Amino acid sequence: MHGVVPKSMWNKVNPADENNMCTWSMRCLLIEDGNRLILIDTGMGNKQDEKFFSFFQPHGEDSLEKSIRALGYELNEVTDVFLTHLHFDHCGGAIVRHGDQLIPTFSQARYWSNQQHWQSATHPNAREKASFLKENILPIEQSGQLSFCGTMDREEFTDTIQIQLVNGHTDSMMLPIIRYKEHTLLYCADLIPSHAHISMPWVMAYDMRPLDTLNEKERLLQEAVNQNWLLYFEHDRNVECCTLQQTEKGIRYGELLKLSDL
Ligand SMILES: [Zn+2]
Repeated sequence: MHGVVPKSMWNKVNPADENNMCTWSMRCLLIEDGNRLILIDTGMGNKQDEKFFSFFQPHGEDSLEKSIRALGYELNEVTDVFLTHLHFDHCGGAIVRHGDQLIPTFSQARYWSNQQHWQSATHPNAREKASFLKENILPIEQSGQLSFCGTMDREEFTDTIQIQLVNGHTDSMMLPIIRYKEHTLLYCADLIPSHAHISMPWVMAYDMRPLDTLNEKERLLQEAVNQNWLLYFEHDRNVECCTLQQTEKGIRYGELLKLSDL
């Protein structure tokens, strides 16, 4: 998760346990947008076997279903499932196992990816293969609920959500840029998985093209600081979102916030 950053540095921010494992979140986002109810990413779900989960040790009491119900919605009220990319920790919860069938968790929703990313997820390279699991991906297409977003620069997904495509982590990952109240929020997915990753050298070892990630981070962070955007973190165990500030050493986080503070 920390790429080439030495443990003596990252261990202060995200202390490892005796097995060298750190705690991360899989923080999805539910957006009420006019008469649409849009879910951004779905976590890793619960349909893999024990061996798989032993590698990642999911823990805690939260589940996608519980969190959505706690907000007063049923799963079948979600109209859109926006998948930033199809790595298992982002799309696993989109499909559930029912007996021997794999079916969409959200029966009434359109599921959104894009053509380029779908192509690379269904024909994965050897390095990414372990992240693109067939059982998470193919049933989306078989259900007839798959749709593709356009891939123009800053494609409009809705009136309040634009899509920023980035290519360093994986082909054509989609980052939603969301207008919320008077704020603009960048959902960072795996471009900047935690607030520590704002710092330029913090690029995950998972990334396909780390130098592209660096360029994309630099460009987007500069725009974000100029425009006073907030960053929203999917994998940060503690920090939901933050403001940015320009310092002599480069762009750093400002205030660490919760969405409920906005
Ligand atoms: Zn991830």
